[in-house]
Amino acid sequence: MIAVPSPSGQTATDLPTGPTPGEWSAAVAAIEAVPPGGRVLLLCHVNPDGDALGSMLGFGLGLCRLGGRSVQATFSGSQDLPPSLQGMPGAELLVPPDQSWTDPDLVLCFDVAAASRLGPLAERMDSPTAIVVDHHASNTRFGGIHLVDPGAAATSVVVDRLLERLGVPLDEQIAECLYIALVTDTGSFRFDMTTPAVHELAARLLATGIRPAEISRRVFDSRPFGAVRLFGAVLQRSVLEPAAAGGRGLVWTYATLADLETYRQPPYVLEALIDSVRCTVEADVSCVLKQVTQTSWAVSMRSKGGVDVSQVAVSLGGGGHRLAAGFTGAGSVEEIVAAIRARLD
Ligand code: 5GP
Ligand code: MN
Repeated sequence: MIAVPSPSGQTATDLPTGPTPGEWSAAVAAIEAVPPGGRVLLLCHVNPDGDALGSMLGFGLGLCRLGGRSVQATFSGSQDLPPSLQGMPGAELLVPPDQSWTDPDLVLCFDVAAASRLGPLAERMDSPTAIVVDHHASNTRFGGIHLVDPGAAATSVVVDRLLERLGVPLDEQIAECLYIALVTDTGSFRFDMTTPAVHELAARLLATGIRPAEISRRVFDSRPFGAVRLFGAVLQRSVLEPAAAGGRGLVWTYATLADLETYRQPPYVLEALIDSVRCTVEADVSCVLKQVTQTSWAVSMRSKGGVDVSQVAVSLGGGGHRLAAGFTGAGSVEEIVAAIRARLD
């Protein structure tokens, strides 16, 4: 195990927005108050992405290093993880939601902007000591103690600070989890929130010995041939609306359950689709509708900066960040796109 000291200070960028000293000490006190042999339940949002799973499991491994507590990690909904996230360090902590403790000594949730994103597990957060670890500006402040930093590029940035406060040094396994979370939410250090502090954290994670090329290939650059062809079909039907979003431009497309059937692909392959659509230079806003049932669609939205898509998503029952947000919409493709179009204008 290699312990790497953290930098002495925060950057100006991440100073004003983070948890208060009172929130930090309440969280640390709640964790340290778990009795010997106590049970800690960790939650993340449905359809976990790299940040949700990596932050949850990275923290879970950190708690295990502290010793003296039993740890479970779980999430609602389909338990099928995409291959890119299977076999992450700490995966042995995962249990199906119906086998998770209903009366743990402490609950924490990771990367969850609203209780609804926990599905039926949301009620486990009904406790004054339930800790919300997150970085969404739209966080609704459910639960008891809030470690929410909208200035953090990923929830794992907040996890790193929490582990530091608990005196848990980074090791290779924890670092792999936190690194996957960090590269997922920063788009491999390409997005807006890629601050000096992000690179400093990446440097400390890499110093543990993790292998970035291997991780990136597994997490981003692996796709079945059927998914490559599915992307081709879905991208082919993209629509560009240069006049939408007050002239900033909107590009959108959709993928149906029938598409998945045709190319024999599971739904999670569609998560990366928005990255191919959002390169369209003629549009500030991009949108992908992924059919979930006959009448409901998971909608992903991205902006290059001209529009706050989280406002659009929140007004349609979802949430997210200024430049990346989403919601679940009911109706036809045209109805949902019309609702988005109306809010963008
Ligand atoms: P993605 O498009 O990658 O699924 O999600 C982008 C961002 O939007 C994520 O940060 C996620 O938290 C948020 N988001 C996506 N779908 C939903 C949703 O149905 N509800 C809420 N509250 N947020 C969502
Ligand atoms: Mn995140």
